[in-house]
Amino acid sequence: MLAARLHGAYDLSVEDVKIPRIRKNWVLIKVDAVGICGTDKAFYKGTYRLFKKPLIPGHEICGKVVEVGKNVPKDILDKKVVTKINITCGKCWFCTHSLFTHCPYRETLGITVDGGMAEYVLTPYRNVHEVKLEPPLPGSNIAILGSGNIGLLSLQVLKLYSPLNTVVVVHKNSPKVIFARKLKEDYVITFEEAMELKKKITPEGEGYDYVVEATVALKDCL
Ligand SMILES: [Zn+2]
Ligand SMILES: [Zn+2]
Repeated sequence: MLAARLHGAYDLSVEDVKIPRIRKNWVLIKVDAVGICGTDKAFYKGTYRLFKKPLIPGHEICGKVVEVGKNVPKDILDKKVVTKINITCGKCWFCTHSLFTHCPYRETLGITVDGGMAEYVLTPYRNVHEVKLEPPLPGSNIAILGSGNIGLLSLQVLKLYSPLNTVVVVHKNSPKVIFARKLKEDYVITFEEAMELKKKITPEGEGYDYVVEATVALKDCL
């Protein structure tokens, strides 16, 4: 298969590599699209050290399941999916307390192991979700924290379900506000405005029905 492989700063090439071999609890995805994240740009510029060299970057992946391991239900075959990126151990204290993102033994697609800037990518079955997962009810009040790639992608999907009541909460001086406003002009607001709106929606302070957390770090993004 063809894959973009990064060997070091500014050293990226498209190469012919082996399609990853299926494992018993994993699925093989034929990649349809992959996002270019800030992390990928940092890898490329060398400002974020590569954990593995060469590395196939890409951790914002969607595609179709084309092969499944022997322990994986066959009905996922041919389904269009997205994959979570953290491959956790499932056994440590954090994993057994559902704090998967804190697993000290985790690997991360496109960051510590080969990712999705390739024709195929391998990922654990438990990390795979179909796009229709759990749509919010129409009319729900939704706040998206952050206006980066994930925030803007979430906004585009959520607009389909809840056209009027989705707000994007951004840092006052965020340069990305311009993109969020293009997608939803009237509903890009600052953290302070979001807190005011929350009081208006429910004076008891219950606030939003759903909150999408799409910030790198709360103090940087709000
Ligand atoms: Zn990312
Ligand atoms: Zn773990």
